[in-house]
Amino acid sequence: MATRVENLTEVATGVFELRLPIPWEDEFVNVFLLAGGGHVDLIDCGMNSAASIDTIRRAVRSVGGEGARVRRLLITHIHPDHYGAAGILTAEDGAELCLHRLEVPLVHPRYLDLEQLIQEVGDYLTRNGVPDAVAEELSNSSRGLRDFVTPAEPALQLDGAETLELGGRELRVEWTPGHSPGHVCLYDAGQRVLFAGDTLLPKISPNIGLHPQSTPNPLDEFLESLDRLLALGPGLVLPAHGRPFEDAQGRVAELRRHHLRRKDQIVELVGEGEVTAWALAIELWGDRPHFFEKRLALQEALAHLQSLAVENRLQKLAERDLVTWRRPRPRPA
Ligand SMILES: [Zn+2]
Repeated sequence: MATRVENLTEVATGVFELRLPIPWEDEFVNVFLLAGGGHVDLIDCGMNSAASIDTIRRAVRSVGGEGARVRRLLITHIHPDHYGAAGILTAEDGAELCLHRLEVPLVHPRYLDLEQLIQEVGDYLTRNGVPDAVAEELSNSSRGLRDFVTPAEPALQLDGAETLELGGRELRVEWTPGHSPGHVCLYDAGQRVLFAGDTLLPKISPNIGLHPQSTPNPLDEFLESLDRLLALGPGLVLPAHGRPFEDAQGRVAELRRHHLRRKDQIVELVGEGEVTAWALAIELWGDRPHFFEKRLALQEALAHLQSLAVENRLQKLAERDLVTWRRPRPRPA
């Protein structure tokens, strides 16, 4: 028997949850090892840090035997805590990377050649009412994340709806845009187990933001994604953050209520005025101390505003330099 690895737990038959630390938060990301059919496959891989990668390798040997390596690496989405170690595990361990094709074009501007995206984000923030000096800082706030990521080219690009063999069982790929354009979940219909990534979390509501790298209406896409996951009838949800849980139905209902309430609240706050997303975000969340959080708050407000505009409950007035929002005006008699 191989030595015990800390934070490695069998959560369903042949499915091992490994909890890896996230350095900038007091939080863990859960990655999953699937052992069977003579190999070990991995869903998500944590940060690019030597300690985290060493933990993964020890966990793979612990469930797959001495000499075992990651065969396939399926990434739910390219955020650093899910994708960071992908470059090392493909280059050094020979893992075959699977990634949704809408995530692929996000990698280069986000982690390799950042200047253009930083410029775009800066313009985008300014257009949404962020004062210039603040926009400058906010657009640079994610620069440091690249240190936790070594990117890799996927061996297999996914569309969604594929059946993939992982750890000796068949899993269906469910494309669930919202938190990220090409976010995927995986479903094991045999065991009724859903690998939910960041789409369905037990405690926190995943950040859903409108920004230059998002899809055009991420909030509605997110809610539709949740409905599609529920339709699978999962018995056990394995989230990327927090503990496994069973009541998918109840949790989806809560998340849906949260976002519908927030939309109502935004319509109230807009009142009879005409506001920028930045002014609105400050009213909703206050002037948050941390820059990265401020940017997420703005993008989250924008996702709600966009959904309201799509429904025609608000008007989105778009000019080259400024975007504002107001309630539809009654037509002149
Ligand atoms: Zn994420």
